[in-house]
Order: sequence, then C-alpha cells, then structure tokens
Amino acid sequence: MSYSPKMKQLIRPNILKMEAYQSARDTFDSADENVVLLDANENPNDSGYNRYPDPYQKRLRDRLATKYSLAPNRLMLGNGSDEILDLLIRAICEPGLDQCLVLPPTYGMYRVLSDLNNVEMLEVPLDVEFQPIPDDILKSAKATTKILFLCSPNNPTGNLLATDRVEYLLRNFNGLVVIDEAYIDFANRPSWVMRLEEFENLVVIQTLSKAYGMAGLRLGICYGQPWLISLLQKIKAPYNINSATQQLALQRLNTPETIKAEVDELITQRERLATALEEIAWVRSVYPSQANFLLVGVDDASLRYKQALGSGFVLRNRDGLPGCDQCIRISIGTPSENNLLIEQLKQLK
Ligand SMILES: *Cc1c(COP(=O)(O)O)cnc(C)c1O
Repeated sequence: MSYSPKMKQLIRPNILKMEAYQSARDTFDSADENVVLLDANENPNDSGYNRYPDPYQKRLRDRLATKYSLAPNRLMLGNGSDEILDLLIRAICEPGLDQCLVLPPTYGMYRVLSDLNNVEMLEVPLDVEFQPIPDDILKSAKATTKILFLCSPNNPTGNLLATDRVEYLLRNFNGLVVIDEAYIDFANRPSWVMRLEEFENLVVIQTLSKAYGMAGLRLGICYGQPWLISLLQKIKAPYNINSATQQLALQRLNTPETIKAEVDELITQRERLATALEEIAWVRSVYPSQANFLLVGVDDASLRYKQALGSGFVLRNRDGLPGCDQCIRISIGTPSENNLLIEQLKQLK
C-alpha cells in the first residue's frame, strides 16, 4: 500500500500493524454455483439469508463507483455514515492523546463518537453566516489534532461551506479533512469527491439515508485515497453490511429516475415552504438551505415546537446550539404534508 510519509504519520501505530480477520468468505469467495460451501458453519438450508454477506460488497461498491467514475478501491461502505465516522476516529486518533476538531453548530455525532473513543474534541464555532473561520481553526489545531470534521451542506444550518475556505483548510490543516456530504444531492454544487485527486488528506462521506430514501437500510459511503480505504476495510467488522441491505441498495440505485424525481420535488417543496414560512408573523428568519430541511428562527422555539406537536407535526427544536437561538429545524415532507403544515402553522397565535 502506498501512503505519503505525512499521511502514514496520521495512522495509529497499532492499526497500521494489526492484521484483518480472515473470514471464510475471504479465503474462498466464488460465484461458482457448483461448489458446496462447508467453510463458514452456516446453516445449509436456503432461507434466502443463510449465507454470510460479501464482506467487500463487491457488486454494490462497483455500482457506487460508477456514479463518480472512480475505481472501487476509493470507496468503502459502513453501517450508516455513523459507523464510518467511528472507524475514522479509531484508525487515526490515539485515545487520550490526539484530538478532533468540529465547527459548531453542526451534526452531533462527531462529538458523541469522539467522546466514545476518549478522543478530545476541539470546537471552533462557525461565523455569523455559518462559514468556517480558517485562521481560527488553524490556530486552535495542535500537532496532535488529527481530524477536522466539516459538514457541507451543514446540519442543522442547511448551507454549503464556502469552497475557497474549504480549499484553504485542505491545503493547510495537517490532518484528515472529513467532509460529510449527507445532503449533497439536494445542493447546487458538485461533490468534493470530484477533487479527491488534488488533496491527499480529503475524505468524503455520503449516505443513502437522505436523498436516496433508505435510512432504514443503514448504508454510508466513505470516499478517500486507496491507502485510507484499505485501512478502514481492514478494521471494519467483516460483515458490517448485511445481505438484504446490499441487495436492496442495488435495486434502489438502479432506479435513478425515481431518485432524481424525488430529489427535484423535495427541492421545489423546500423553496415553496421557505416562502410560505417567511409570511408568518412569528417567523423571524428562514435560513437559505441546500438540504432537505429548513432552519427557521422564530419568536419562541419551545412554544412553537409544542404548538406544532399539538397540530400533529414533530419538528426539531435546535435552540441552544451555538448561533441557533430560538431556531427550529423542519424536514421537508410530501407536498400534502407541507400544505397541511403551512395551514396549521399559519393559524398559530
Ligand atoms: C443524517 C446525517 C447523516 C446520516 O447518517 P447515517 O448514519 O448514514 O444515517 C450523516 N451526517 C449528517 C450530517 C446527517 O445529518
């Protein structure tokens, strides 16, 4: 495996040294139907799922690689993006010694997973326009700050991070820059996956949970340099993606027109909902969104949350997050759900 010395330094020594579990399907994986598999202590009676899943998810990864015309060795799959985030921290950050860095307000799992791994989390808040402040970030980072988590479009604010600032961070931050693109299919800008060749420290995470409508299947995708991908493949649970998920995700990926139509509709609805919300007296501001949700500043977030619940709508109260005073986050529903929501919210006093 080829890594630059700078990248090799980032990897925890025990992870670099350890060897992966050799599963039965590792030693022998054949589509040859004429062999009898007696190597994995499976139940031989066909239930549809009596065999272990492909630990490398070959068909699914080949299919996903075509989206950005990549080699399949530039992507690995996780049980949701959350598993990938956890694996990245475990591969790179020495517990009790190294740090990660996040830019609040942002997705809460980065902190939960670094806490879980006993890795200190540094925080440098986004500016008033929810953009990163590169100089502050680089000043706060120590020599042992190994991962910078960026979320673009960001949750819960909905905005894309400015390209020039992200580029500056990619060039100047001395660790991995992980860009979480859970909402990228709703945005009007191409994925950072297109720039993998330019930055050896760039890692991009996507998911089938949002635009692809498969949150229940749990499938996250990590794009990165081949050295990082094989490192993550080495440490993941051998059968982390179950057979049903591999099959159903492939089926879904083979219906690109449906996915595109749903995404287009959600974007249309997002803009319509934003306009309607702006006309409500108790709404202070609707933040521009490149995702499938809106961050909405209101007069009294907990009151409006309770009232909406009384009308049958569960919103997310984001008051208390830095820069999100009296804000609620609203996911975009179907056209009829949105109609009803607008109607109900308009009537609240
Ligand atoms: C929803 C979301 C995810 C998705 O996580 P999964 O584990 O793939 O379902 C990842 N990152 C962000 C910022 C999200 O909002």
